[in-house]
Amino acid sequence: MTLDLVIRNARLTDGGELLDLGIRAGRIADIARDLSSPARVLDAEGGRLIKGFADSHLHLDKACLLDRAANPSGTLKGAIEAVSAAKRDFTREDIYARGARVLEKAICQGTTLIRTHVEIDPAVGLAGFDAVAQLKADYAWALELQICVFPQEGLLNYPGTEELLRAALDRGADLLGGCPYTDSDPEGQIARLFDMAREYDVDLDFHLDFDLDNTWRHLDEVARQTVAHAMQGRVAIGHVTKLSTLPPPQLDETIALMRDAGIALTVLPATDLFMMGREFTDSVPRGVAPAHRFHAAGLCCTVATNNVLNPFTPYGDCSLPRMANLFANIAQIGDPAGLDACFDMISAQPFRLLGREAAIKPGDAADLVLLPCATSAMAVAEICRPFWGMRSGRMSFEAPKPVLLAPESAEVGKVRSAESGA
Ligand SMILES: [Zn+2]
Repeated sequence: MTLDLVIRNARLTDGGELLDLGIRAGRIADIARDLSSPARVLDAEGGRLIKGFADSHLHLDKACLLDRAANPSGTLKGAIEAVSAAKRDFTREDIYARGARVLEKAICQGTTLIRTHVEIDPAVGLAGFDAVAQLKADYAWALELQICVFPQEGLLNYPGTEELLRAALDRGADLLGGCPYTDSDPEGQIARLFDMAREYDVDLDFHLDFDLDNTWRHLDEVARQTVAHAMQGRVAIGHVTKLSTLPPPQLDETIALMRDAGIALTVLPATDLFMMGREFTDSVPRGVAPAHRFHAAGLCCTVATNNVLNPFTPYGDCSLPRMANLFANIAQIGDPAGLDACFDMISAQPFRLLGREAAIKPGDAADLVLLPCATSAMAVAEICRPFWGMRSGRMSFEAPKPVLLAPESAEVGKVRSAESGA
């Protein structure tokens, strides 16, 4: 069989043997040891080859706003108000330019699959959806975008929003999101969104709660509606910062509730750390849901970026290994199995949540990203930056290894014998 390219010395699993991948016509034609072929060679040098990272929750439409929207209080209310004011001046061109900046960063960090949440309401209309739909088409050579349209500023309290959500779904939005905590009738919003999701046959992804008061929550209602609408496996909830306040018995009950309802969890550590516990002057709580507990119980559970350089999160380089590392810090995870789980929550788990498969196998499109590390635990521990990626066999980015420029006279890298002095 004639191959176009052979990738040599790659590891497909932690500690796995070194394998070669033969690429032909954009697909993985063969995976074997010592593949014999005269084709061009790309040496993976023992690195870990993955299908890329997946970001299950990223806002492209309100990214990169620090030049025009400030949030001096650092609160959720301050962030929503700042973005709401800036949103009045959003245009399709402006959203496209900011979104493209974020996507290009994400591509170079090895992300190949993204669910992006797009705000829809009468103030911004469909400008966000139209810009992101064009980004989805324009960057399809490097990654896949799923568009989740949602009513950030409420649904039942904001006349005209539902009609616009329906228009976006008619024009190809992939799924519906919700944000009951900003609605005047949160349970009414949840019920309406479930009905619409059934009508359009799309998945649901809620921004569920964003505070640390565990005397009330909407999670039970979402679980009830998920089962009532037979949508197990099709509903995700994000943030859910209240989960960080639960003592172990209540946490176990909640894990069982979500497992029974087939609800996935997305945790957004950068935003949650930035915004939660602002009312505290000392012993500030972390306010980040314990994703690893849900993951360990077998739930679909992901760690994602959420916001980049805006009033909700004034940071961001779109690195998912950095986000997994941040979560590991917060959750005090240091053992290899725990770090593996953190890696899983930015790779196989979000692929699963978005209805895709992370496994690399013959016959599939050659969508590959090379990590310069031998194990997934080290990718998280070292915040590993990928060297290159390809989509359908075509290189989509390169980030070559840094080169050390030691002077010729320097002797570095090996210890001198005692006799040679100094
Ligand atoms: Zn969000």
